[in-house]
Amino acid sequence: MGKIVQQDILEQLEQLRQDAGAALAQANTTEATREWYAEYLGRKGRLTGILRNLGSLPVEERPLVGKVANEVKVALENAVQERQNAIAQAEMEAVRRAESVDVTLPGRTQTLGKLHITTRTLRDIYAIFTAMGFQIYDSPDVETDEYNFQLLNMPPGHPARDMWDTFYTTTPGLILRTHTSSGQIHAMREYAPDPIRVILPGKVYRYEAVDASHESMFYQVEGLAVGKHITFCDLKGVLINFANQMYGEGRQARFRKSYFPFTEPSVEMDIDCVLCNGKGCPVCKYTGWLEILGAGMVHPVVLENGGYDPSRFSGFAFGMGSERMALQKYGIDDIRYFYANDMRLLERV
Ligand SMILES: [Zn+2]
Repeated sequence: MGKIVQQDILEQLEQLRQDAGAALAQANTTEATREWYAEYLGRKGRLTGILRNLGSLPVEERPLVGKVANEVKVALENAVQERQNAIAQAEMEAVRRAESVDVTLPGRTQTLGKLHITTRTLRDIYAIFTAMGFQIYDSPDVETDEYNFQLLNMPPGHPARDMWDTFYTTTPGLILRTHTSSGQIHAMREYAPDPIRVILPGKVYRYEAVDASHESMFYQVEGLAVGKHITFCDLKGVLINFANQMYGEGRQARFRKSYFPFTEPSVEMDIDCVLCNGKGCPVCKYTGWLEILGAGMVHPVVLENGGYDPSRFSGFAFGMGSERMALQKYGIDDIRYFYANDMRLLERV
């Protein structure tokens, strides 16, 4: 290798300027320009490599080479700066285009949600009874056998227990409540000896074979009024008022004798069928009547278990299934629809 002369280095610098210029034109991303910078102008880049030979030139030849090298460096630095600006601009433009809104596109229709039919029915029931001075009282879903049966006048072995197919837990004596009636005892024990007017809504559980009219879980709303001089007339007045508000004014009502262990006397309340107005249809099984609830005067044993003296206090209680009410009100023929999440039902009612 011959002696390095000024001309060689100047040629190398010129070659570098051309190579770098061509390579920069190909760099289309910020990342590529960084790599380009490292290759040509970086600490281990080609320019540094060329200038390493500067020391072998005679002293008087060095200034010219240094001047040219500096010009090349400045030119390339300006070029890469310009290139990077252009790339950044293009990237911003691309983002702006991607995010721009076409105001001529038609809008998307919004479907409004609404409350589930069970929730709406419950709220209708709450509104009617709270207007009559009843408070809403919460009681537990998991109950003891004592609250669910014994304190409601059904000691162990009582045949009336067969009216409810019960879910038992693995803890002896602990069950899923079969009716909201167990809440009556909780309410009475909390308020006795003050008068009570409460409704007790909530889920109840039955070990049932599920079919069109039976579910293993459904809602009940229990009602309880306890005080002095409460009579069967009060029961009838409250429930007829309820039926007229729930199903529309002018409903016919009838009370049939029935049996519940925790009320005496006990009745079932029917109203004339809201779908056929008493003429007879499949929903009322061609009787013209719909059974809407069970009720009665609170049994003296139950009053006593709740902390009231039955010789001074009396009361009435009633219980209704909110799904059954919705079935009747909206003409739905299968209770399983309530929990099937079928949009057709949810849209219809
Ligand atoms: Zn009917």
